[in-house]
Amino acid sequence: MTAEIISGTEIRKAILAEVKEEVDQMKEKHGKVPGLVTILVGSSPASISYVTLKVKTAISLGFHEIQDDQPEDISEEDLLALIDKYNNDPDIHGILVQLPLPKHIDDKKILVAINPDKDVDAFHPVNVGRLMIGGEEAIFHPCTPAGIQEMIVRSGTETSGAEVVVVGRSNIVGKPIAMMMAQKGVGANATVTIVHTRTKDLAAHCKRADILIVAAGVPGLVKPEWIKPGSTVIDVGVNRIGMNEKTGKAILSGDVDFNAAKEIAGKITPVPGGVGPMTIAMLMKNTLKSAQYALK
Ligand code: NAD
Repeated sequence: MTAEIISGTEIRKAILAEVKEEVDQMKEKHGKVPGLVTILVGSSPASISYVTLKVKTAISLGFHEIQDDQPEDISEEDLLALIDKYNNDPDIHGILVQLPLPKHIDDKKILVAINPDKDVDAFHPVNVGRLMIGGEEAIFHPCTPAGIQEMIVRSGTETSGAEVVVVGRSNIVGKPIAMMMAQKGVGANATVTIVHTRTKDLAAHCKRADILIVAAGVPGLVKPEWIKPGSTVIDVGVNRIGMNEKTGKAILSGDVDFNAAKEIAGKITPVPGGVGPMTIAMLMKNTLKSAQYALK
């Protein structure tokens, strides 16, 4: 039987429509809208394209959006002063500093300067701690893990008591999604195992996963025979495996052998069109939450 495809493109559309509706209601009730500032330092083409997409999405939802571009040679001190300005701006609910930053600027110093209540990327140590504590404390979840959890919930996958195996232990995907799935709450209450490069028998762990979340960055790492029949497979990997000479665009592949895996899994995310499109939607949702929180 062929697996049901969990489309990130479709779920993103639904989430953005929900966010837009809540923004309209906020405007009507309180005369306010969520405010997001995107700070771009320098002119890396990849960063420009990420920021442009975030800005366009925010504007399409009716957010108050400021795109604050800064020159490559901005000093660390000036960048910190800029963050401080937005920390104190009541119309701004989300501050996003596009990474990577130039070498003369310390990323960590910048990220901890953001007010945790405006840290919509949820990379600040305070938000990492809140995520560990769970419940009401965790205002924001980091966007990629939040997108993964949303896909699991909206695909109708049962998580309570499920065996979840997470491949990868990075700070931006593996560790936070593992913690989120183990918490009490909707889309959670799972029994979680994290596997990584030092794990002895990767295949054995994957084989017992009711929900397999793969974020390793290794194309084809997960073999079809590692997949439990009927399970839900979330492939976070985005790997460039070649170039389409006609379109000039990169050919992308995930960490799972999709064509073979879809004949075994019950539900599976594709690459592209799976987890990728979810991240920006969750960023918008975090900014909305921050604005709602500020109104309380
Ligand atoms: P990372 O390199 O920081 O971490 C990868 C993790 O996978 C490490 O913890 C490592 O131990 C583990 N790993 C690597 N090779 C392994 C192997 N052979 N066996 C077992 N474990 C192995 O990467 P990351 O930032 O977590 O990203 C992982 C993948 O997800 C990448 O392909 C990245 O492009 C993708 N990604 C996608 C999105 C998105 O779609 N929005 C967001 C973030 C990351």
